[in-house]
Amino acid sequence: MCPRLHGFIAGNREKFPDKFNAPVPPFGALDARLLIVGLAPGLKGANFSGRPFTGDYAGDLLYPTLIKFGFAQGAYGAHPDDGLEMRNARITNAVRCVPPENKPTGSEINTCLDFLKAEIGAMAQLKIILSLGLVSHKAVLKATGHKQSAFKFVHNTAHEIGNGLILVDSYHCSRYNTNTGRLTSAMFEDVFKTIKSL
Ligand code: URA
Repeated sequence: MCPRLHGFIAGNREKFPDKFNAPVPPFGALDARLLIVGLAPGLKGANFSGRPFTGDYAGDLLYPTLIKFGFAQGAYGAHPDDGLEMRNARITNAVRCVPPENKPTGSEINTCLDFLKAEIGAMAQLKIILSLGLVSHKAVLKATGHKQSAFKFVHNTAHEIGNGLILVDSYHCSRYNTNTGRLTSAMFEDVFKTIKSL
């Protein structure tokens, strides 16, 4: 459906034949009440491991925080066989295939919306969607039938988006954001305190 991403994955299959190199499926049970939506798999992280945020720098902050707040159980080992289990939470990405330079195009994001819509529609107990970053925030709004201007992205803010759903925004837990201090681990934990309180 996305020729550029398809070509990128094909090249990576040749370069790294023993790695996952395919659309990365969500992680966690469908009956979870929390859905975390990231951006897209990192080349040598989720794209290599086949599990969202696994092996990515962003996972080093995300998974320990999930464990701390009871949304995951076990130990995060940056590997899909680490035995980590999600608890009442599921993780997916706005774009399921690794994009060159971590930057999906607008049309790739739009094409992947069908998967995000289906994901949200299939989660019968879903109450809270946590968007990691602006791309995810916009994709979730589109997937739930809202204009992108309907709700402004504001870190650690909860928006009631209808159908009993609440969208919570957070800056993405990327290396760039944590290195520049835009997002600290304390700020990230505050987002999960908000989610717990909701
Ligand atoms: N890995 C993912 O799966 N998603 C992101 O948004 C970043 C890294």
